[in-house]
Amino acid sequence: MDIHIQGDIDGVEAATLLQKTHSIPVIYLTAYSEEKTLTRASATKPYGYLLKPFSDRELHIIIQISIERYQSDIRLIKNEQHFRLALEAARLGTWETTTDSHEIFMGKSPEGNLQPISDWKSFFRTINESDRQKVSEFIAKLRGKKGSTAEIEFRVISDAGKNYWYKLYGKSFKNRNAGKHQIIGVLQETTESHLAKDRLAQAATVFECATEGIIILNKDRQFSCANNAFYEITKFQPRNLRNKELPFLTSRSLGEDSYSNIWQGIDKDGHWRGEIKASKRNNETMYAWLTIGFIPAAVSDEKQFVVMISDITAIRETREQLTQTAYYDSLTNLPNRMLTMDRLKQALAKASRDASLLGVLFVDLDNFKRINDTLGHRHGDSMLCFVSQRILAVLRESDTLGRLGGDEFIVIVTNVESRDALIKVAEKILECLSSPVVISNMEVVPSCSIGISVCPDHSNHPDDLLQMADTAMYEAKNKGRNRYAFYHPTLTQQAVHYMTRERELHHALMKNEFLLHYQPQYSLAQKKITGVEALIRWQHPVKGLLSPAEIIPVAETSRLIVEIGNWILTEACRQLNQWRAEGLNDLRIAVNISIRQLADKHLQKFIAELLQQYSLPAHLLELEITESCLQDELIYITCLEKLESLGITISIDDFGTGYSCLSSLKNLPIHRLKIDQSFVKNIPHDNNDCAIAAAILALAQKLNLQVTAEGIETYDQIDFLNNLGCDELQGYLLSKPVDPEQIPYLIKILPDRLRALKF
Ligand code: C2E
Ligand code: MG
Ligand code: MG
Repeated sequence: MDIHIQGDIDGVEAATLLQKTHSIPVIYLTAYSEEKTLTRASATKPYGYLLKPFSDRELHIIIQISIERYQSDIRLIKNEQHFRLALEAARLGTWETTTDSHEIFMGKSPEGNLQPISDWKSFFRTINESDRQKVSEFIAKLRGKKGSTAEIEFRVISDAGKNYWYKLYGKSFKNRNAGKHQIIGVLQETTESHLAKDRLAQAATVFECATEGIIILNKDRQFSCANNAFYEITKFQPRNLRNKELPFLTSRSLGEDSYSNIWQGIDKDGHWRGEIKASKRNNETMYAWLTIGFIPAAVSDEKQFVVMISDITAIRETREQLTQTAYYDSLTNLPNRMLTMDRLKQALAKASRDASLLGVLFVDLDNFKRINDTLGHRHGDSMLCFVSQRILAVLRESDTLGRLGGDEFIVIVTNVESRDALIKVAEKILECLSSPVVISNMEVVPSCSIGISVCPDHSNHPDDLLQMADTAMYEAKNKGRNRYAFYHPTLTQQAVHYMTRERELHHALMKNEFLLHYQPQYSLAQKKITGVEALIRWQHPVKGLLSPAEIIPVAETSRLIVEIGNWILTEACRQLNQWRAEGLNDLRIAVNISIRQLADKHLQKFIAELLQQYSLPAHLLELEITESCLQDELIYITCLEKLESLGITISIDDFGTGYSCLSSLKNLPIHRLKIDQSFVKNIPHDNNDCAIAAAILALAQKLNLQVTAEGIETYDQIDFLNNLGCDELQGYLLSKPVDPEQIPYLIKILPDRLRALKF
């Protein structure tokens, strides 16, 4: 390149351009040799400067040398580029210092957190104070010993006040050119790996300190390691498990379906959570909460699984206990009201989906209160247990038996084909209770009354069905207990009627609207009226005189019967006292007693006080009880014996219509049988009735009991009964029940009338 050339720029400027754009080496060939031009030309770093005139040889030599140099320059640049790129790829920086100077050079750190540093002081300032000492020592060590290498890790604080970790590797060596000792090395930011190490240390601590068991499984789901908690929880040892599947996570222990569910879940979502039942090493069963997670292959060479296991046996047991107390009856272990109603709701939903019939059976024990009152609550409880077990035994597995409370049970029968199927269930329940239960060394025969409601016939609402079954159950009770009854709408009206009637009866008692009529009883042997039966009437302010049928059945459903009964006893005794004052000295009075009154523990005392108050000889008071009182012989024996000890007499009313245990006639303190009017009615025309009446009379004579025939309406009846030795007669033929004022008159005239007929 000549310096003086044509155009706007000179040779120096052209050479500068050529070097910049094409890296072309330049040799000046010029006549200029003054200082200024030389300075400008040398700034362009030419490969040669030949002054004109020069020889071809000179030019040739300088070109040869320049080419050599140019090639070596290219190699150097390449090398430098190679190292720079390698450092960049490795995210490394470089640093350099010499032995005798305190100069330090450090390129921009690879992560860019450190600015380029060229003096020791400013570099030193960025180092975390607590690490400065060891960095000084590191540099001193390298400076002190030629050829030594060292590395150090320290923290640097960024302008933002954040700590970064760096690692310096250094080597000291002698720079032959400079004749100095140089220290050179690389710089690496290690903040990330430091954090990772920290995290690893944390994870390791968590792993070992966790109360949950943690297990790592390999890609084949086989055990690879576990923490202490796992061994503690499961009692397994590492040697029991090495290269095996976890015993509680095999398809054999979980079942094919659950096993594939779990692993499919992990494949799909990366994890699975759930409860399993597991066996410990010592064969103890435990409930475990498992979390299984998938560790992707990116972290380790192969994918792995982590299993976390916690023992939730205690939690489960508590939960079960809570459920048990919340939903089950503690005495019988049957579902309680809440659960029963819930089951009913579910069963109804299913029945409506399937369009099938569902039956609700309301089961109520008969006379349970008496068992509780006479034998005590402990025995009452065992009775309830017996009964619930017996009923359970005859039900299908799909049926529900629940206890609503007291002696009330509910049976939910699903998938019923017809009403007949429900009748069969009810009959099975009645049948299963019919054999005696031994309670407190006594045989008691339980029985129950069952009300049945049907969905969808009656309702499809759970509360309504229950209410209807309950109403039907009362119907079964009214019809004489130990039977079933289906709900029908009139029962609801009846139930409403019962409720209003009960209130009315209360008022009637308060307002003294009850009165007693008396029906004479004629003795065939003594040929006179020996007694009268007191029969209740109700002088209703609107409806007029009402019969016992309007009073007694309703009153008997509650304690009201005891209150009304006490009024009757009092009134009868008062009346007898009045008659005695009028001269009817040996007249006997018979009072009907309900079973509920008999069970009243104050009855005996009450009667004793009445006898005293009205100065009545006890044998003139007779109590009429029904045969149903004899069925629970054991329970009533004490009641009757207490009454007899007062000296009063006891007769069995409506004899023949109930179920008397014949042995109880012998054992119990009974004095009289009253043949029910239904057997008397068709005497002498109906042979069966005649036979029954004759049999009762024969039985009574053998057992030395008196017999009164009720419902005498014809002379033929008297004739027949008289021939068989019947003691007394009662019926419309002699007299209807009348008000007390008429009794003295009837006593006077009746015997004459009968004597005229030779009775
Ligand atoms: P019961 O104790 O068997 O009373 C006899 C019933 O038969 C009376 O009906 C009486 O009027 C009726 N009777 C009497 N002779 C004849 C007759 O020749 N032909 C017909 N067809 N009937 C006759 P009543 O007074 O309606 O009493 C019905 C039932 O009510 C009684 O039957 C008794 O079980 C009950 N009862 C009546 N008064 C009382 C009472 O004060 N207390 C209790 N607990 N129950 C009572
Ligand atoms: Mg009677
Ligand atoms: Mg009767």
